[in-house]
Amino acid sequence: MPGKILIVEDEEKLARFVELELLHEGYEVEKAFDGRDGLEKMERGDCDLVLLDIMLPGLNGLEVLRRARRSVDTPVIMLTARDTVMDKVTGLDMGAEDYMTKPFEIEELLARIRVALRRSKKSAPETKILSAGALTMDVDRHTVAYDGQSVELTHREFALLETLLENKGIVLSRDTLMERVWGYDYMGETNIVDVYVRYLRAKIDAVFDVKLVQTVRGVGYVIR
Ligand code: CA
Repeated sequence: MPGKILIVEDEEKLARFVELELLHEGYEVEKAFDGRDGLEKMERGDCDLVLLDIMLPGLNGLEVLRRARRSVDTPVIMLTARDTVMDKVTGLDMGAEDYMTKPFEIEELLARIRVALRRSKKSAPETKILSAGALTMDVDRHTVAYDGQSVELTHREFALLETLLENKGIVLSRDTLMERVWGYDYMGETNIVDVYVRYLRAKIDAVFDVKLVQTVRGVGYVIR
């Protein structure tokens, strides 16, 4: 999943062109055609990267960046038609990740987007912790513990438990679990999900005397 990119650009043709290229690369795209709308969308904080034009109606790009930086640290690549040192320096000083001077080669923009996204992922050490009751899963460290006691799981058991924990409270059918854990092209036995739920129960429920993974008859499994 490459990520979501916000394009703040009043030249709608250019915005559309960049959007199509990004969609083609698998990114999700949102657009804003003026500074205020751009700021509002940026402040929602759900974008992974922002392409921000400097010359914008409403608020200019530098002002959008200055205000947005009070609440979000989404990486920003400034787009500028004016190849002036001043704009670049000001933009970078205000926390832009990079800048592109228009007209630009789309390939170069795509490359810079990839670099900026990689850099921002590295600088934000993710600690994705999932939990249910006394059970905790550290997704990045690939560890599971019940009440502080570590639980050793195989790769598939871990993936199955992760899927159930990510959907805590939601009953997942065997088909859904099979698709998410084993993949669409899995050709093995259809009762594989039941087999792995048994493994999980043997390693967690039986050892710690809990009822973690619940069966919903005729539907599937759920962790509450
Ligand atoms: Ca413009």
